[in-house]
Amino acid sequence: MGTLVDVVLYGDKEVLPEAAGLAFESILRVEAAAHPSKEGSSLFRIRQGKGVRVEGDLARILDVALEVSRATSGAFDPTLGEVVNLWGFGRDDPHLPGPEKIVRALEGARYDRVLTGQCCPEGLDIWFDLGGVAKGYAVDEAVRSLQDSGVKAGIVNAGGDLRSFGVRPRRGYWKIGVQDPENPQKLAGVLEIKEAAVATSGDYQRYFEEGGIRYHHILDPSTGYPAHSGLRGTTVIAPDCATADALATAAFVMGPEKGLAMLEKWEGAEGVLITEDGTILTTSGIGEGGIRFERREKTSD
Ligand code: AMP
Ligand code: MG
Repeated sequence: MGTLVDVVLYGDKEVLPEAAGLAFESILRVEAAAHPSKEGSSLFRIRQGKGVRVEGDLARILDVALEVSRATSGAFDPTLGEVVNLWGFGRDDPHLPGPEKIVRALEGARYDRVLTGQCCPEGLDIWFDLGGVAKGYAVDEAVRSLQDSGVKAGIVNAGGDLRSFGVRPRRGYWKIGVQDPENPQKLAGVLEIKEAAVATSGDYQRYFEEGGIRYHHILDPSTGYPAHSGLRGTTVIAPDCATADALATAAFVMGPEKGLAMLEKWEGAEGVLITEDGTILTTSGIGEGGIRFERREKTSD
């Protein structure tokens, strides 16, 4: 999934190493299911319009993806695969595609053609890209596996998309740094959570430069180009990480006003949005229900 995953676990010393091993296995299992172009895979055959009945991990990922797509009128769109591939994000050679190619690739992006997570009847050729949701789902599956193994508390962190479970000994809560998009080495603030998932989307996470312009990896499905919504970073807190992941990507595309309104409406979700001028917006539930956010003052060093 192009990232490092680490786990912190509390429980009986005898069970932890094996539990961690199983958790990493479940992440690899999800990675294999969600990979967009592994030859012979379900997603590969769907792309060829072969008619595939999907179940298990892939069906559950698609269900979350579609729920968020519909609720955001397609700001989150898991069917952008051809456009994502055209830009080459996730490969070594991302580059600015020609405008006519983008228009053509965008024609294939139609989340509303997919009716259920069981997807896809014969003749429905869809190029899925689940990069905006699969990492979160993998974190959820790792947590599930750890709990099944009897681990009492812990946190699974896939490059900043994470989920905590159980009661952390001594402190009782986890502190999660939120990066400053302007200077990702620094923190814009610190979240305190108990049992929750946190996912972040930002224009500083993956990008390339061409002709002096920076192009990042979160695309606006209405244009096929990187979203310029007025936001630079979105952090979403939700009970599960798949939903948090998809909502963070969606809110980034929607921008400060619509993104914040969408998160306010979403039962169980909260958000911290950082705008282009560095303003930090938070949903009204932060400060309640065990979630706190503390801003870090900007310093000149
Ligand atoms: P994230 O880092 O979770 O915001 O997801 C970004 C990744 O999701 C990109 O690298 C693409 O693979 C994919 N993606 C880009 N734009 C969108 C979008 N508007 N909706 C859904 N997935 C997207
Ligand atoms: Mg995401």
